[in-house]
Amino acid sequence: MELMYSSTRNDKVKLTASQAILKGLADDGGLFVPERIPALDVPMDTLADMSYQETAYEVMSRFFTDFTEDELKDCIKKAYDSKFDTPEIAPLVDADGAYYLELFHGPTIAFKDMALSILPHLLITSARKNQVKNDIVILTATSGDTGKAALAGFADVEGTKIVVFYPKNGVSPIQEKQMITQKGANTCVVGIHGNFDQAQTGVKKMFNDTALEAELDVAGYQFSSANSINIGRLIPQVAYYVYAYAKLYKNGAIAKDEKINVVVPTGNFGNILAAFYAKNMGLPIAKLICASNENKVLYDFFSTGTYDRNRDFILTSSPSMDILISSNLERLIYRIAGNDAEKNTKMMEELSTDGKYAITDEMRAQLADFYGNYTSEEETAKTIKKLYEDTGYIIDTHTAVAAGVYDKYKKDTGDTETKTVIASTASPFKFTRSVMDAIDPKYDAMGDFELVDELSRIGNVKVPQAIEEIRTAPVLHDTVCEVEEMPQVVKKFLGV
Ligand SMILES: *Cc1c(COP(=O)(O)O)cnc(C)c1O
Repeated sequence: MELMYSSTRNDKVKLTASQAILKGLADDGGLFVPERIPALDVPMDTLADMSYQETAYEVMSRFFTDFTEDELKDCIKKAYDSKFDTPEIAPLVDADGAYYLELFHGPTIAFKDMALSILPHLLITSARKNQVKNDIVILTATSGDTGKAALAGFADVEGTKIVVFYPKNGVSPIQEKQMITQKGANTCVVGIHGNFDQAQTGVKKMFNDTALEAELDVAGYQFSSANSINIGRLIPQVAYYVYAYAKLYKNGAIAKDEKINVVVPTGNFGNILAAFYAKNMGLPIAKLICASNENKVLYDFFSTGTYDRNRDFILTSSPSMDILISSNLERLIYRIAGNDAEKNTKMMEELSTDGKYAITDEMRAQLADFYGNYTSEEETAKTIKKLYEDTGYIIDTHTAVAAGVYDKYKKDTGDTETKTVIASTASPFKFTRSVMDAIDPKYDAMGDFELVDELSRIGNVKVPQAIEEIRTAPVLHDTVCEVEEMPQVVKKFLGV
Protein backbone atom coordinates (compact mmCIF):
# COMPACT_ATOMS: atom_id res chain seq x y z
CA MET A 1 0.00 0.00 0.00
CA GLU A 2 1.25 3.46 -0.89
CA LEU A 3 2.45 5.50 2.07
CA MET A 4 1.16 9.05 1.63
CA TYR A 5 2.47 12.29 3.10
CA SER A 6 0.38 15.04 4.64
CA SER A 7 1.23 18.49 5.94
CA THR A 8 1.71 19.20 9.65
CA ARG A 9 -0.65 22.15 9.09
CA ASN A 10 -3.31 20.55 6.89
CA ASP A 11 -4.57 16.94 7.15
CA LYS A 12 -6.29 17.16 3.77
CA VAL A 13 -2.99 17.29 1.88
CA LYS A 14 -2.05 13.86 0.50
CA LEU A 15 1.06 13.54 -1.59
CA THR A 16 3.24 10.64 -2.64
CA ALA A 17 6.80 10.56 -1.33
CA SER A 18 8.24 11.81 -4.63
CA GLN A 19 5.79 14.71 -4.73
CA ALA A 20 6.65 15.66 -1.15
CA ILE A 21 10.39 15.54 -1.95
CA LEU A 22 9.86 17.77 -5.00
CA LYS A 23 7.82 20.33 -3.07
CA GLY A 24 10.06 20.43 0.02
CA LEU A 25 7.70 22.57 2.10
CA ALA A 26 3.88 22.45 1.98
CA ASP A 27 2.03 25.48 0.58
CA ASP A 28 0.54 26.12 4.03
CA GLY A 29 4.04 26.43 5.50
CA GLY A 30 3.84 22.99 7.13
CA LEU A 31 6.28 20.10 6.91
CA PHE A 32 5.52 16.85 5.14
CA VAL A 33 5.04 13.84 7.41
CA PRO A 34 4.29 10.20 6.56
CA GLU A 35 0.73 9.24 7.53
CA ARG A 36 2.17 6.47 9.67
CA ILE A 37 5.65 5.23 10.54
CA PRO A 38 6.21 1.94 8.70
CA ALA A 39 7.45 -1.11 10.58
CA LEU A 40 11.00 -2.33 10.13
CA ASP A 41 9.84 -5.81 9.14
CA VAL A 42 13.28 -7.29 8.47
CA PRO A 43 14.79 -9.78 10.97
CA MET A 44 17.78 -8.39 12.88
CA ASP A 45 19.82 -11.45 11.83
CA THR A 46 19.32 -10.38 8.21
CA LEU A 47 20.15 -6.73 8.89
CA ALA A 48 23.27 -7.79 10.79
CA ASP A 49 24.90 -9.01 7.58
CA MET A 50 23.92 -6.07 5.42
CA SER A 51 26.13 -3.35 4.00
CA TYR A 52 25.30 0.30 4.63
CA GLN A 53 23.71 0.56 1.17
CA GLU A 54 21.57 -2.54 1.69
CA THR A 55 20.39 -1.25 5.08
CA ALA A 56 19.58 2.14 3.58
CA TYR A 57 17.45 0.40 0.95
CA GLU A 58 15.48 -1.56 3.56
CA VAL A 59 14.73 1.62 5.51
CA MET A 60 14.06 3.99 2.63
CA SER A 61 11.90 1.57 0.64
CA ARG A 62 9.49 1.42 3.60
CA PHE A 63 9.01 5.21 3.44
CA PHE A 64 9.38 6.04 -0.26
CA THR A 65 6.85 3.53 -1.53
CA ASP A 66 6.27 5.15 -4.93
CA PHE A 67 9.91 4.67 -5.94
CA THR A 68 10.66 1.42 -7.78
CA GLU A 69 13.33 -0.89 -6.40
CA ASP A 70 15.66 0.05 -9.28
CA GLU A 71 15.14 3.77 -8.79
CA LEU A 72 15.87 3.67 -5.09
CA LYS A 73 18.85 1.34 -5.39
CA ASP A 74 20.27 3.57 -8.12
CA CYS A 75 19.96 6.66 -5.88
CA ILE A 76 21.64 4.82 -2.99
CA LYS A 77 24.46 3.51 -5.16
CA LYS A 78 25.24 6.98 -6.51
CA ALA A 79 25.12 8.57 -3.04
CA TYR A 80 27.09 6.19 -0.84
CA ASP A 81 30.10 5.42 -3.02
CA SER A 82 33.79 6.31 -3.01
CA LYS A 83 32.93 9.91 -2.06
CA PHE A 84 33.03 8.39 1.42
CA ASP A 85 36.50 7.53 2.67
CA THR A 86 35.47 4.20 4.18
CA PRO A 87 33.34 1.40 2.69
CA GLU A 88 31.54 1.16 6.02
CA ILE A 89 30.17 4.68 5.33
CA ALA A 90 29.26 5.17 9.02
CA PRO A 91 31.74 3.29 11.25
CA LEU A 92 31.31 2.79 15.00
CA VAL A 93 34.20 3.57 17.35
CA ASP A 94 34.21 2.20 20.89
CA ALA A 95 35.71 4.74 23.32
CA ASP A 96 35.32 5.27 27.07
CA GLY A 97 32.20 3.14 27.44
CA ALA A 98 30.22 4.55 24.51
CA TYR A 99 29.96 3.86 20.79
CA TYR A 100 30.70 6.83 18.58
CA LEU A 101 28.81 6.58 15.29
CA GLU A 102 31.06 8.52 12.91
CA LEU A 103 28.80 10.28 10.43
CA PHE A 104 31.59 12.41 8.96
CA HIS A 105 33.27 10.23 6.37
CA GLY A 106 31.62 11.97 3.39
CA PRO A 107 33.01 14.67 1.08
CA THR A 108 32.65 17.61 3.51
CA ILE A 109 33.55 15.65 6.66
CA ALA A 110 30.29 16.43 8.49
CA PHE A 111 27.05 14.55 8.94
CA LYS A 112 25.05 16.70 6.49
CA ASP A 113 26.73 14.58 3.79
CA MET A 114 24.72 11.56 4.91
CA ALA A 115 21.56 13.21 3.55
CA LEU A 116 22.89 15.68 1.00
CA SER A 117 24.74 13.04 -0.97
CA ILE A 118 21.46 11.28 -1.75
CA LEU A 119 18.98 14.19 -1.91
CA PRO A 120 20.01 15.31 -5.45
CA HIS A 121 19.34 11.82 -6.80
CA LEU A 122 16.03 11.55 -4.98
CA LEU A 123 15.03 14.97 -6.36
CA ILE A 124 15.92 14.17 -9.97
CA THR A 125 14.18 10.79 -9.77
CA SER A 126 11.12 12.49 -8.24
CA ALA A 127 11.10 15.07 -11.04
CA ARG A 128 11.16 12.35 -13.70
CA LYS A 129 8.42 10.36 -11.98
CA ASN A 130 6.18 13.40 -11.91
CA GLN A 131 6.76 14.44 -15.53
CA VAL A 132 8.69 17.55 -14.58
CA LYS A 133 10.65 18.48 -17.70
CA ASN A 134 12.58 21.43 -16.30
CA ASP A 135 16.04 21.20 -14.84
CA ILE A 136 16.05 21.76 -11.09
CA VAL A 137 17.90 24.82 -9.80
CA ILE A 138 18.81 24.63 -6.13
CA LEU A 139 19.03 28.00 -4.40
CA THR A 140 20.65 28.08 -0.97
CA ALA A 141 21.79 30.70 1.49
CA THR A 142 24.42 29.41 3.88
CA SER A 143 26.25 30.52 6.97
CA GLY A 144 28.95 27.98 6.13
CA ASP A 145 28.46 24.24 6.39
CA THR A 146 25.23 23.47 4.56
CA GLY A 147 26.40 25.36 1.47
CA LYS A 148 29.46 23.20 1.00
CA ALA A 149 27.61 19.96 1.69
CA ALA A 150 24.89 20.92 -0.81
CA LEU A 151 27.50 21.90 -3.43
CA ALA A 152 29.30 18.60 -3.00
CA GLY A 153 26.03 16.69 -3.27
CA PHE A 154 24.75 18.42 -6.40
CA ALA A 155 28.05 18.94 -8.27
CA ASP A 156 27.79 17.32 -11.71
CA VAL A 157 24.40 15.71 -11.02
CA GLU A 158 22.69 15.76 -14.41
CA GLY A 159 19.48 17.78 -14.59
CA THR A 160 20.43 20.04 -11.67
CA LYS A 161 22.18 23.34 -11.08
CA ILE A 162 23.03 24.85 -7.73
CA VAL A 163 23.60 28.45 -6.64
CA VAL A 164 24.90 29.13 -3.13
CA PHE A 165 24.95 32.59 -1.54
CA TYR A 166 27.07 33.26 1.52
CA PRO A 167 27.86 36.42 3.52
CA LYS A 168 31.24 37.52 2.14
CA ASN A 169 32.58 38.46 5.57
CA GLY A 170 30.44 36.09 7.63
CA VAL A 171 31.99 32.65 7.23
CA SER A 172 35.32 31.22 8.40
CA PRO A 173 38.30 31.35 5.99
CA ILE A 174 38.29 27.55 5.72
CA GLN A 175 34.55 27.47 5.03
CA GLU A 176 34.94 30.11 2.32
CA LYS A 177 37.87 28.29 0.75
CA GLN A 178 35.88 25.03 0.73
CA MET A 179 33.06 26.70 -1.20
CA ILE A 180 34.94 28.86 -3.70
CA THR A 181 37.12 25.93 -4.78
CA GLN A 182 34.04 23.79 -5.58
CA LYS A 183 34.31 21.92 -8.89
CA GLY A 184 31.40 21.12 -11.20
CA ALA A 185 30.10 23.10 -14.21
CA ASN A 186 26.61 23.20 -12.67
CA THR A 187 27.77 24.97 -9.48
CA CYS A 188 27.79 28.70 -8.72
CA VAL A 189 29.05 30.24 -5.47
CA VAL A 190 28.46 33.91 -4.71
CA GLY A 191 29.54 36.11 -1.82
CA ILE A 192 27.15 38.90 -0.91
CA HIS A 193 27.77 42.24 0.76
CA GLY A 194 25.47 41.54 3.69
CA ASN A 195 24.86 39.08 6.51
CA PHE A 196 23.35 35.59 6.52
CA ASP A 197 19.82 36.86 7.20
CA GLN A 198 20.01 39.14 4.15
CA ALA A 199 21.26 36.24 2.01
CA GLN A 200 18.39 34.09 3.25
CA THR A 201 15.80 36.83 2.69
CA GLY A 202 17.15 37.36 -0.83
CA VAL A 203 16.77 33.64 -1.58
CA LYS A 204 13.23 33.56 -0.17
CA LYS A 205 12.29 36.55 -2.34
CA MET A 206 13.42 34.70 -5.44
CA PHE A 207 11.37 31.65 -4.45
CA ASN A 208 8.27 33.85 -4.21
CA ASP A 209 8.94 35.89 -7.36
CA THR A 210 6.29 34.67 -9.86
CA ALA A 211 7.65 36.77 -12.73
CA LEU A 212 11.08 35.18 -12.27
CA GLU A 213 9.45 31.77 -12.04
CA ALA A 214 7.74 32.30 -15.42
CA GLU A 215 10.95 33.50 -17.04
CA LEU A 216 12.82 30.45 -15.78
CA ASP A 217 10.08 28.08 -16.88
CA VAL A 218 10.37 29.32 -20.48
CA ALA A 219 14.09 28.63 -20.29
CA GLY A 220 13.50 25.14 -18.87
CA TYR A 221 14.34 25.71 -15.22
CA GLN A 222 12.57 25.65 -11.87
CA PHE A 223 13.75 26.41 -8.36
CA SER A 224 13.93 23.94 -5.51
CA SER A 225 15.57 23.90 -2.10
CA ALA A 226 17.90 21.52 -0.31
CA ASN A 227 16.58 22.71 3.04
CA SER A 228 16.91 20.40 6.03
CA ILE A 229 13.13 20.14 6.41
CA ASN A 230 12.83 18.23 3.11
CA ILE A 231 11.56 14.72 3.87
CA GLY A 232 14.19 13.55 1.34
CA ARG A 233 16.84 14.62 3.82
CA LEU A 234 15.18 13.25 6.94
CA ILE A 235 14.44 9.66 5.91
CA PRO A 236 17.97 8.74 4.69
CA GLN A 237 19.14 9.63 8.22
CA VAL A 238 16.97 6.91 9.77
CA ALA A 239 19.17 4.35 8.02
CA TYR A 240 22.34 4.89 10.06
CA TYR A 241 20.61 4.23 13.37
CA VAL A 242 19.38 0.89 12.05
CA TYR A 243 22.85 0.19 10.65
CA ALA A 244 24.55 1.05 13.96
CA TYR A 245 22.19 -1.19 15.93
CA ALA A 246 22.66 -4.08 13.50
CA LYS A 247 26.46 -3.79 13.71
CA LEU A 248 26.41 -3.76 17.54
CA TYR A 249 24.27 -6.89 17.41
CA LYS A 250 26.52 -8.56 14.86
CA ASN A 251 29.64 -7.77 16.91
CA GLY A 252 28.08 -9.26 20.03
CA ALA A 253 28.04 -5.95 21.91
CA ILE A 254 24.29 -6.32 22.42
CA ALA A 255 21.90 -9.25 22.60
CA LYS A 256 18.86 -9.64 20.37
CA ASP A 257 16.23 -6.95 21.14
CA GLU A 258 18.49 -5.34 23.77
CA LYS A 259 17.64 -1.66 24.04
CA ILE A 260 20.25 1.02 23.41
CA ASN A 261 20.36 4.75 24.12
CA VAL A 262 21.11 7.27 21.42
CA VAL A 263 22.71 10.68 22.08
CA VAL A 264 22.41 13.35 19.41
CA PRO A 265 24.04 16.81 19.28
CA THR A 266 21.04 18.81 18.16
CA GLY A 267 20.36 22.01 16.24
CA ASN A 268 17.46 21.88 13.80
CA PHE A 269 16.17 18.62 15.37
CA GLY A 270 16.54 16.62 12.14
CA ASN A 271 19.09 14.07 13.27
CA ILE A 272 17.36 13.19 16.55
CA LEU A 273 13.96 13.07 14.83
CA ALA A 274 15.45 10.44 12.50
CA ALA A 275 16.38 8.42 15.60
CA PHE A 276 12.80 8.87 16.88
CA TYR A 277 11.48 7.54 13.55
CA ALA A 278 13.88 4.58 13.83
CA LYS A 279 12.51 3.82 17.29
CA ASN A 280 8.95 4.06 15.99
CA MET A 281 9.80 1.64 13.19
CA GLY A 282 10.58 -0.85 15.96
CA LEU A 283 14.31 -0.42 16.50
CA PRO A 284 14.99 -1.16 20.20
CA ILE A 285 15.95 2.31 21.42
CA ALA A 286 15.45 3.21 25.08
CA LYS A 287 16.24 6.91 25.53
CA LEU A 288 16.65 9.59 22.90
CA ILE A 289 19.12 11.96 24.51
CA CYS A 290 18.91 15.46 23.04
CA ALA A 291 22.13 17.43 23.55
CA SER A 292 22.24 21.23 23.18
CA ASN A 293 24.99 23.80 23.53
CA GLU A 294 24.44 27.10 25.38
CA ASN A 295 21.57 27.89 22.98
CA LYS A 296 19.54 25.53 25.14
CA VAL A 297 16.00 26.17 23.85
CA LEU A 298 15.39 22.43 23.54
CA TYR A 299 16.63 21.61 27.03
CA ASP A 300 14.24 24.22 28.42
CA PHE A 301 11.46 22.81 26.27
CA PHE A 302 11.96 19.26 27.55
CA SER A 303 12.19 20.44 31.16
CA THR A 304 9.26 22.90 31.17
CA GLY A 305 6.98 22.07 28.22
CA THR A 306 7.38 25.62 26.90
CA TYR A 307 9.32 26.39 23.74
CA ASP A 308 10.63 29.94 23.99
CA ARG A 309 12.97 31.47 21.46
CA ASN A 310 12.96 34.89 23.17
CA ARG A 311 16.54 34.97 24.38
CA ASP A 312 19.99 36.08 23.29
CA PHE A 313 21.60 34.15 20.48
CA ILE A 314 24.96 32.83 21.66
CA LEU A 315 27.90 32.18 19.33
CA THR A 316 29.56 28.94 20.46
CA SER A 317 32.35 26.63 19.34
CA SER A 318 29.67 24.28 17.96
CA PRO A 319 28.20 26.73 15.40
CA SER A 320 26.07 24.19 13.54
CA MET A 321 23.98 23.91 16.73
CA ASP A 322 23.61 27.66 17.25
CA ILE A 323 19.90 27.68 16.47
CA LEU A 324 16.92 29.17 18.28
CA ILE A 325 14.18 27.75 16.07
CA SER A 326 14.53 24.01 15.56
CA SER A 327 12.37 23.62 12.44
CA ASN A 328 12.07 19.85 12.53
CA LEU A 329 10.60 19.91 16.04
CA GLU A 330 7.29 20.75 14.33
CA ARG A 331 7.08 17.15 13.14
CA LEU A 332 7.31 15.92 16.72
CA ILE A 333 4.81 18.49 18.00
CA TYR A 334 2.33 17.43 15.32
CA ARG A 335 2.72 13.82 16.35
CA ILE A 336 2.36 14.30 20.11
CA ALA A 337 -0.66 16.51 19.39
CA GLY A 338 -2.24 13.31 18.05
CA ASN A 339 -1.50 14.12 14.37
CA ASP A 340 -3.76 17.14 14.84
CA ALA A 341 -2.85 19.74 12.21
CA GLU A 342 -5.12 22.38 13.67
CA LYS A 343 -3.58 22.13 17.14
CA ASN A 344 -0.07 22.18 15.68
CA THR A 345 -0.80 25.17 13.45
CA LYS A 346 -2.01 27.15 16.45
CA MET A 347 1.26 26.57 18.30
CA MET A 348 3.39 27.38 15.26
CA GLU A 349 1.45 30.63 14.84
CA GLU A 350 2.15 31.47 18.50
CA LEU A 351 5.82 30.76 17.81
CA SER A 352 5.89 33.21 14.94
CA THR A 353 3.92 35.96 16.74
CA ASP A 354 5.09 35.62 20.38
CA GLY A 355 8.24 33.58 19.85
CA LYS A 356 6.90 30.86 22.15
CA TYR A 357 4.26 28.23 22.81
CA ALA A 358 3.42 25.74 25.55
CA ILE A 359 2.36 22.14 25.03
CA THR A 360 -0.35 20.44 27.13
CA ASP A 361 0.38 17.96 29.94
CA GLU A 362 -1.09 15.27 27.75
CA MET A 363 1.45 16.06 25.06
CA ARG A 364 4.29 16.26 27.58
CA ALA A 365 3.48 12.76 28.81
CA GLN A 366 4.41 11.48 25.36
CA LEU A 367 7.93 12.85 25.62
CA ALA A 368 8.99 10.32 28.25
CA ASP A 369 11.44 8.71 25.83
CA PHE A 370 13.37 11.95 25.48
CA TYR A 371 16.00 13.29 27.84
CA GLY A 372 17.37 16.79 27.25
CA ASN A 373 20.40 18.55 28.64
CA TYR A 374 23.16 20.94 27.55
CA THR A 375 26.82 21.75 28.10
CA SER A 376 28.54 25.07 28.65
CA GLU A 377 31.48 26.05 26.45
CA GLU A 378 33.84 25.14 29.29
CA GLU A 379 32.26 21.71 29.73
CA THR A 380 32.47 21.04 25.99
CA ALA A 381 36.19 21.83 25.94
CA LYS A 382 36.83 19.73 29.07
CA THR A 383 35.04 16.78 27.48
CA ILE A 384 37.33 16.87 24.43
CA LYS A 385 40.45 17.09 26.61
CA LYS A 386 39.43 14.34 29.00
CA LEU A 387 38.42 11.87 26.29
CA TYR A 388 41.70 12.53 24.48
CA GLU A 389 43.77 12.07 27.64
CA ASP A 390 41.91 8.92 28.71
CA THR A 391 41.68 7.18 25.35
CA GLY A 392 43.61 9.07 22.64
CA TYR A 393 40.37 9.51 20.67
CA ILE A 394 39.74 13.07 19.47
CA ILE A 395 36.19 14.31 18.86
CA ASP A 396 34.90 17.57 17.44
CA THR A 397 33.08 20.27 19.40
CA HIS A 398 29.56 19.19 18.37
CA THR A 399 30.20 15.57 19.28
CA ALA A 400 31.71 16.79 22.56
CA VAL A 401 28.43 18.48 23.46
CA ALA A 402 26.77 15.09 23.06
CA ALA A 403 29.47 13.28 25.06
CA GLY A 404 29.23 15.89 27.84
CA VAL A 405 25.46 15.55 27.99
CA TYR A 406 25.77 11.76 28.09
CA ASP A 407 27.92 12.14 31.25
CA LYS A 408 25.21 14.32 32.79
CA TYR A 409 22.56 11.78 31.80
CA LYS A 410 24.45 8.99 33.57
CA LYS A 411 24.84 11.08 36.73
CA ASP A 412 21.20 12.23 36.66
CA THR A 413 19.59 8.88 36.04
CA GLY A 414 22.09 6.30 37.27
CA ASP A 415 21.66 4.51 33.93
CA THR A 416 25.22 3.45 33.24
CA GLU A 417 24.37 -0.02 31.96
CA THR A 418 22.43 0.65 28.76
CA LYS A 419 24.74 0.50 25.73
CA THR A 420 24.84 3.92 24.16
CA VAL A 421 25.48 5.27 20.66
CA ILE A 422 26.69 8.87 20.37
CA ALA A 423 26.10 10.49 16.98
CA SER A 424 29.47 11.96 15.99
CA THR A 425 28.51 14.69 13.56
CA ALA A 426 31.77 16.27 12.41
CA SER A 427 35.40 15.36 11.96
CA PRO A 428 37.67 17.13 14.47
CA PHE A 429 39.54 18.43 11.39
CA LYS A 430 36.52 20.56 10.55
CA PHE A 431 36.87 22.51 13.80
CA THR A 432 40.59 22.09 14.31
CA ARG A 433 41.28 25.28 16.22
CA SER A 434 38.55 24.84 18.84
CA VAL A 435 39.45 21.18 19.27
CA MET A 436 43.18 21.79 19.68
CA ASP A 437 42.62 24.77 22.00
CA ALA A 438 40.52 22.50 24.20
CA ILE A 439 43.35 19.98 24.41
CA ASP A 440 46.06 22.55 25.18
CA PRO A 441 46.00 26.38 25.06
CA LYS A 442 49.59 26.34 23.76
CA TYR A 443 48.18 25.50 20.30
CA ASP A 444 46.71 28.98 20.09
CA ALA A 445 49.92 30.25 18.56
CA MET A 446 49.91 27.87 15.59
CA GLY A 447 48.61 28.58 12.06
CA ASP A 448 45.54 26.79 10.67
CA PHE A 449 47.31 24.18 8.58
CA GLU A 450 50.06 23.67 11.14
CA LEU A 451 47.28 22.78 13.56
CA VAL A 452 45.83 20.32 11.08
CA ASP A 453 49.16 18.46 10.93
CA GLU A 454 49.52 18.53 14.70
CA LEU A 455 46.00 17.14 15.17
CA SER A 456 46.85 14.37 12.73
CA ARG A 457 50.01 13.59 14.69
CA ILE A 458 48.65 13.58 18.24
CA GLY A 459 45.39 11.86 17.26
CA ASN A 460 47.14 9.38 15.00
CA VAL A 461 44.59 9.91 12.22
CA LYS A 462 45.18 10.77 8.58
CA VAL A 463 44.31 14.27 7.40
CA PRO A 464 41.02 13.86 5.50
CA GLN A 465 41.01 14.38 1.74
CA ALA A 466 38.57 17.29 2.10
CA ILE A 467 41.19 19.23 4.09
CA GLU A 468 44.18 18.20 1.94
CA GLU A 469 42.33 19.47 -1.12
CA ILE A 470 41.74 22.99 0.09
CA ARG A 471 45.40 23.53 0.88
CA THR A 472 46.16 23.70 -2.82
CA ALA A 473 42.86 23.85 -4.71
CA PRO A 474 42.46 26.78 -7.13
CA VAL A 475 39.71 29.36 -6.54
CA LEU A 476 36.96 28.74 -9.12
CA HIS A 477 34.30 31.18 -7.92
CA ASP A 478 34.99 34.86 -7.31
CA THR A 479 31.61 36.53 -7.84
CA VAL A 480 30.61 39.04 -5.16
CA CYS A 481 27.39 41.05 -5.38
CA GLU A 482 25.00 43.34 -3.56
CA VAL A 483 21.87 41.82 -2.02
CA GLU A 484 19.67 43.51 -4.67
CA GLU A 485 21.69 41.94 -7.47
CA MET A 486 21.07 38.30 -6.43
CA PRO A 487 18.37 37.60 -9.09
CA GLN A 488 20.58 39.03 -11.85
CA VAL A 489 23.46 36.80 -10.78
CA VAL A 490 21.20 33.73 -10.93
CA LYS A 491 19.86 34.68 -14.36
CA LYS A 492 23.32 35.31 -15.72
CA PHE A 493 24.55 31.93 -14.48
CA LEU A 494 21.58 30.19 -16.12
CA GLY A 495 21.90 32.21 -19.32
CA VAL A 496 18.33 33.46 -19.00
C1 LIG B 1 23.75 20.31 11.36
C2 LIG B 1 24.65 19.81 12.42
C3 LIG B 1 24.17 19.43 13.69
C4 LIG B 1 22.72 19.55 14.07
O1 LIG B 1 21.91 18.61 13.42
P1 LIG B 1 20.33 18.84 13.36
O2 LIG B 1 19.83 17.74 12.48
O3 LIG B 1 20.13 20.19 12.72
O4 LIG B 1 19.81 18.78 14.73
C5 LIG B 1 25.08 18.93 14.61
N1 LIG B 1 26.39 18.84 14.33
C6 LIG B 1 26.89 19.20 13.13
C7 LIG B 1 28.34 19.09 12.89
C8 LIG B 1 26.05 19.69 12.12
O5 LIG B 1 26.56 20.05 10.94
